[in-house]
Amino acid sequence: MRELSDRTATNLKKVLEVALTLPGNYHRFLQAGLIDSNSNIKQLVTDWQTAFTNLQPIDKQTVRQNPGLFLATADDLVYRGMTSGTSGDFFTYFAGNEWNQARLLARQRALSWWGIDEQVPIINLASRLQPLRVNDISLIGNITADWLQSLKELLQIQPAVIRGYPSRLSEVAAALVGHSIPAVLGVICTGEVLFDFQKQLLESIFQTSVINEYGCQETGISGLSCPECGRLHLDVDRCFYEIIDGELVTTDLFNYTMPLIRYKCGDRIQLDFDACLCGRSGFTAQILGRIQEQIKTQQGWKYPGEICLPKFPGILNYQIVKQNQVDVDIWLQLEPQQVLDLSPLQLWLENLFGEVRGRVIVDSSDLSQLENTQSCSDLEWIEWVTKKSWREWLELGLLPAGSAREIALLLKSLIQPTVMVNSGISPIAQQAIARLLQPSPCRESPVELMAVRVLLLACSFLADRPTRQNIYHRAQQRLAEMNCGEYSAMVDLLIPSLGFDSNTAISIWENTNLPDSGKLDVFNIQHLLAAFNLAASTAKRENPNIAIAWKPILSILIGDLNFWASRFHIQILASWWELVNGKALASSIHRQTTGDSFLDAWLTWRQAILGDGASATTALSQLQATATLPTEIARVELEQGYAKLLWQEPLNPVEWLEKIHKNAGLISANLPDRDIDPIPWIPLLWKLAPLWLAGGESELAYQCLIAAAPPDMRASGFERLAREMNYKQSTICDRSNIPLP
Ligand SMILES: [Zn+2]
Repeated sequence: MRELSDRTATNLKKVLEVALTLPGNYHRFLQAGLIDSNSNIKQLVTDWQTAFTNLQPIDKQTVRQNPGLFLATADDLVYRGMTSGTSGDFFTYFAGNEWNQARLLARQRALSWWGIDEQVPIINLASRLQPLRVNDISLIGNITADWLQSLKELLQIQPAVIRGYPSRLSEVAAALVGHSIPAVLGVICTGEVLFDFQKQLLESIFQTSVINEYGCQETGISGLSCPECGRLHLDVDRCFYEIIDGELVTTDLFNYTMPLIRYKCGDRIQLDFDACLCGRSGFTAQILGRIQEQIKTQQGWKYPGEICLPKFPGILNYQIVKQNQVDVDIWLQLEPQQVLDLSPLQLWLENLFGEVRGRVIVDSSDLSQLENTQSCSDLEWIEWVTKKSWREWLELGLLPAGSAREIALLLKSLIQPTVMVNSGISPIAQQAIARLLQPSPCRESPVELMAVRVLLLACSFLADRPTRQNIYHRAQQRLAEMNCGEYSAMVDLLIPSLGFDSNTAISIWENTNLPDSGKLDVFNIQHLLAAFNLAASTAKRENPNIAIAWKPILSILIGDLNFWASRFHIQILASWWELVNGKALASSIHRQTTGDSFLDAWLTWRQAILGDGASATTALSQLQATATLPTEIARVELEQGYAKLLWQEPLNPVEWLEKIHKNAGLISANLPDRDIDPIPWIPLLWKLAPLWLAGGESELAYQCLIAAAPPDMRASGFERLAREMNYKQSTICDRSNIPLP
């Protein structure tokens, strides 16, 4: 083993001490002699550094079989991530606050080499990469004329660094030939091997430096190329690197939540321990590719990073896919107006693969064409968004042909953003809101009503409070001018109160003619789901006790809505407002009973436990007495759990496992049933997971944490879109090497 620095030795010892207590490591540690088999106390032997070199590495498949056996704590979970890998080959890992701080610090440090500070936005392009820092943005979707326009608009608003997979960035660059492009402050390539021809293309189109980034979150690996020499420096503070039998084996030095010791991440990397001329300490690396990505060439098996992909005259960008022993597909993006001579490419292919049949596919996608959309009438579209599934609407790409078109486009950009920013909404959606705020006298009234409803919904996406209030009041005024008393529109008018400050919200409740009863339409439900994000942050600010006890409060709100959607009364919305604000609304709102005895009892119960709790016993007996349906009886048990969380009463892990098993469908193998919605149980699962872990039920604890993923409507929409279009791809790959399924 290399000589360890004092700092690395201290950090490594600390993480080993956590790891040795975990059932997933015990035998491995014992075999290596890291722990003393004769001692009753599990502790590291004195010469642990020597024993460590005997420790058998583990791989992703081993962890994936029983991930719970590697879970050290179920508290302080700050980060939840998914390992990379093909389908069925990944697992969810967790990390805590120290890990997250170390990660952000390492990134900040590396970016500063290039003069990229926190003020400079990083725009992630056409990938699954999400905005990480406050000013960061992600632009996803197919590379169309509209998409390129969005990119230019974003760069015009503020010069930025762009970041993405090199193959996608090269596609974007090739599509931008001949365009004038606002200033780009740097191009960060990540996630795939960066080839020289791509680097040259990116440099020439964006007129800026190309930075190579490498990271693997579950291992703690992170690195950036240096400006002076372009060599990839790995951050040695966060991670301990070893090469064992030619393979990279890592130990994340800061993950005490789910420590992975001597872990094979599946990437092929060459480490270079010679000092870099730039003077930075530590070693540099060259990424060769993933273990499964080997390519059979005339010179033997090679990793992509070991093959030189040159630039060919007339060709901007290309991709090589070897389909089988003889057929090679070559996808090309060409320089404009070129008479193409393919012979240099042909010669190169022959040298690489020997005699093969090349099939050339020239990308001639006409970027002036819009994405696939279907037209419908304004009224048909209104029917979709108020009565039918929004998912289907988005999948069909249905857009109204009339004056409702701009309303539909705004709604789409809010709920399925292709531009994602860390706070608020994209500058492009803001411009669409500004256009919709201009009253249009010739709009037919159902279209005008939808315009107002979409503006009210937009309030839940606007981070800036004065802007939000201004838009709200203008929408409110337009609704008043229409003299509209439609139930669903009146509900929309009250929903934004969940995100307003108390005074504004109370005046909304007092000055709105409260609707008696009616049914929520599909738009209302989507509006509520969108508004809950803002309501959750209101709770963190206005009612921190409840936000801590019922964490994440979003899951309580969504669970309540799922339960009450079909028997909704406006009092439920009022009670949510009181929940997030920790204040009572005027009693007149509650005076009338709803006529639904279980709902009335539930409203009284929630008021009782959220108040001083004095009348909780009476309220509970009333709730129990009115519960008749099985779902209502389950609800009562859930509500008692909520009360225990609020009053910080101890929960018996065995008793509650049974309750959750019975009510939320934990199946007999003690794992949550994926068909049953665990959302309302999430706060209890969070609380119980550490108790189960302490009781030795590590797999159960792990599965609970998986089931307790806090819902995030916006991120999941983004994730769906990104998965469909902006996946990683190999610039060169050998499909004849991949076994058929
Ligand atoms: Zn360097």
